[in-house]
Amino acid sequence: MSTMSSERDFNEIIMSLARKRGFIWGPSPEIYGGSSGFYDLGPLGKLLKNRLENQIRAAFVRANFWEVECPTVSPREVWQASGHLEGFIDPVTQCRKCGQVYRADNLISEKSPETNIAGQTADELTDTIIRIGLVCPSCGGELGPVQAYNLMLQTRLGLDQEAYLRPETATTTYLLFKRFLTFFRDKLPASVFQIGKAYRNEISPRQGMLRLREFTQTEGQIFLLEKDEIDWPQFHDIQNDKLPLVTNQAQQKGKFEPVMTTMSDAVKKGYFQKPAYAWCVHLAYMIFRQMGFSDERMRLRQHLPTERAHYAADAWDIEILTDSFGWVECCGVHDRGNYDLSRHQEFSKQNLSVKVEKEQVVPEVLEIAFGIERPLFCLIDNSFRSESKERDTDWLQFPPEVAPIQVAVFPLMGKPELLDPASEIFSDVMDAGFVAQYDVGGSIGKRYRRQDEVGTPFCVTIDYTTIEDGTVTVRDRDTMEQVRVRKDNLTKVLRDLVRGTIQFDSLK
Ligand SMILES: [Zn+2]
Repeated sequence: MSTMSSERDFNEIIMSLARKRGFIWGPSPEIYGGSSGFYDLGPLGKLLKNRLENQIRAAFVRANFWEVECPTVSPREVWQASGHLEGFIDPVTQCRKCGQVYRADNLISEKSPETNIAGQTADELTDTIIRIGLVCPSCGGELGPVQAYNLMLQTRLGLDQEAYLRPETATTTYLLFKRFLTFFRDKLPASVFQIGKAYRNEISPRQGMLRLREFTQTEGQIFLLEKDEIDWPQFHDIQNDKLPLVTNQAQQKGKFEPVMTTMSDAVKKGYFQKPAYAWCVHLAYMIFRQMGFSDERMRLRQHLPTERAHYAADAWDIEILTDSFGWVECCGVHDRGNYDLSRHQEFSKQNLSVKVEKEQVVPEVLEIAFGIERPLFCLIDNSFRSESKERDTDWLQFPPEVAPIQVAVFPLMGKPELLDPASEIFSDVMDAGFVAQYDVGGSIGKRYRRQDEVGTPFCVTIDYTTIEDGTVTVRDRDTMEQVRVRKDNLTKVLRDLVRGTIQFDSLK
């Protein structure tokens, strides 16, 4: 991620708008000075997050995943088995003079980009710091030895049982594997997903909403056998879809521009070894499309072997292009092999294998994982439109399906003959399942402006013509144009507009 000053300024514009309009507050708790890495969602931020979660749920359920929910705290032995106690670490170094703590790898790459530190241990990083003469960026002091710093938040159960807040939801899902086998009547593949809080004790989180110590993670898991990974019938449904891919080979040639590639070509050319894994990458892509991201601002980037997590056999990320930070990693799709179930079988001494032709086999796992706060921030960033001649305010062009408020309803004036029909129409709109807001305060222009500021795609106004002929005006946020619609047809028209099955122009 680049840190050019203009980009930092844009992030400040987005964050101050998000604060002012009730999307994101913090760092939290604000009245006590705030701890970095923690944010509150205001009323509109929470509505936006709910809408994103709805899209995510719908996509997983449509793909035949079942939702589960697990505790956020687990005892030490779970994290020992999962590898997080040993492997979920950042290398850190502390200034001997001013006490400031830094991520050693980031500091080296920042100050000396030509130095290759891929795969270096803590001791090797210490040597590198001495060799290249790196000092504390804030005071010029000597940097101390690099130490492995575990990112898990520790807590205690009862008096003295060591426990940790989960750094990812996935591990807690794997612990249920025996139960899943019964639930799915011993049939694989089986797919489940979880949406819930996870925690990472980042050493000094910067970049606002992108580095959080507490966040909401979404992950989908497919348990399957090796033969299913190759023989995956659902792949045929998606093979002609084109995705914006950036392969490992392309990156090694210095090419980071996404190339629209059909899934069948991607498998033929060997970008994906396994159709089931390719299907997972496609599903993750579809989830991001349904959250409102466009192809122009998305790319799917394969991890270089040096970037992969301790459990990953292959990994692709979804990245979103922002005006605040450039490309931002938002989602990982991992081929976790049978690492997790094997480890939990070994440590729990429970049988987590299935019988395949008289042999006991530990199933493979494919995973889609992402925090919701990053796409939430990226969507605000991508939806920002600055003030123009036509509109005297900065506004937000959220895709209608995920806009925090989808429809606003106004009586033209606060007169009783208008208030009654207006509140009736407001009820109809709510009953039809929209997130709607009723507003009677101020001039109609001011009320439109307030809705533009929070990205409401459609406003419905009840005026004196409504009483005469039973029509209302529907105002389109993007064009600021209005049409009259019969009120008994209103909720159907709104539903078509929000889904995008009709265009506003066609109503004129
Ligand atoms: Zn210092």
